[in-house]
Amino acid sequence: MLQQLQQADGSREAADAAFALMASIYPICRSITGDGVRRTLDVVEQVVPLTRTEVPSGTPVYDWEIPHEWNIRDAFVADASGRRIVDFRAHNLHVVNYSAPVDRTMSLDELQPHLHSLPERPDWIPYRTTYYRETWGFCLRHRDREALGPGPYRVVVDSTLAPGSLTLAEAVVEGSTDGEAIVYTHGCHPSLANDNLTGIAVAAALARALRTERPRLTWRFVFGPGTIGSLAWLSRNEHRLARLRAGLTIGLLGDAGPLRYKHSRRGDTVTDRVTAHVIGREPFAGLLTPFEPYGYDERQFCSPGFDLPVGRITRSPNGTYPEYHTSADDLSLVRPEKLAESIRALARTIALLDANRRLLNLSPKGEPRLGKRGLYGSVGGAGPGEFEHALLWVLSLADGAHDLLAMSERSGLAFELLDRAAGALEEAKLVRVL
Ligand code: ZN
Repeated sequence: MLQQLQQADGSREAADAAFALMASIYPICRSITGDGVRRTLDVVEQVVPLTRTEVPSGTPVYDWEIPHEWNIRDAFVADASGRRIVDFRAHNLHVVNYSAPVDRTMSLDELQPHLHSLPERPDWIPYRTTYYRETWGFCLRHRDREALGPGPYRVVVDSTLAPGSLTLAEAVVEGSTDGEAIVYTHGCHPSLANDNLTGIAVAAALARALRTERPRLTWRFVFGPGTIGSLAWLSRNEHRLARLRAGLTIGLLGDAGPLRYKHSRRGDTVTDRVTAHVIGREPFAGLLTPFEPYGYDERQFCSPGFDLPVGRITRSPNGTYPEYHTSADDLSLVRPEKLAESIRALARTIALLDANRRLLNLSPKGEPRLGKRGLYGSVGGAGPGEFEHALLWVLSLADGAHDLLAMSERSGLAFELLDRAAGALEEAKLVRVL
């Protein structure tokens, strides 16, 4: 499954398409709600069909509430001559995301508490938000901030904060069993590339490729804002959660750092075992890290009231690379070969999560005769070939306790080989899936 994306050529082609998608949505001013999100989804929808849900402002989601919807048209700080010193139209990071409307004239001293800059990175614009506290602010290069005179300045944020809705979108690929899996990516950041456009573009590429297959599990690729989005999704999907076999949150997939898997809270779920098997080994040789309750939306999926088998795949995670949450996290930070490697690793992880299953040997007393079923070479003496070996391992470990991954780890045989052997034995009615 997802064979094409697991090959170097296929993943490179997918990475090129993902990069093109990122370039087209990079300029859009997104947030946790608003038309920037909807316009972004319009573009994603050209890659893969989406089902959208609008959750109205004021809807309670556990201990939270869907906030007012935020939309912005313009924002600036202008000097006495009307020249824009800080201009939202030049870069959408210049306005603190979710800023309330304002139109006032003030001195630099009055303005300073509303300004954000990075003294240690004087040429980068920081990314700041104020989702849950109604205020306003501007982010600017520290070099420009230091050059500001005493004023007065005209300060305008032409935004609306009003009842509306939060937008969730899903690309759903139906499976052949009643099991389900989820891939969640946050899509709430404005012009920032590695965090979080890589997650959106890679999720779209994977969903598109999976739609050409017939997976065992129903896969939901969910595009929503961080925190409030996964909470809103959970509150609307509690009836599905008992069927959820595996899940991943993904993002930050294009920087130069190594691949990294963060375990679920439980730490030993099928998601953890399969993903660690893929990410932690050659050719990826990524880092495996334990669960911690800080991070992305895995926090919500793994909260004790849900305790779902959801881990996280990133490259460099939140706060661990200098460009994180600044204007320097632009398209030039994303390396096509790293994006392609992330796609390869995720394609293999999803393929294995989907194929992994426990089996029961239906002829467990002695070895069944494989030769008369066409499953074993008819000439004796030469010893079993690789495929025959795999058949014997599957029959031996099809005791209901071992899944294919456990068989692979115990036998040293490749997962894909055991998967093929298991398929042949299922067809011969010598084993059945539990
Ligand atoms: Zn972020």
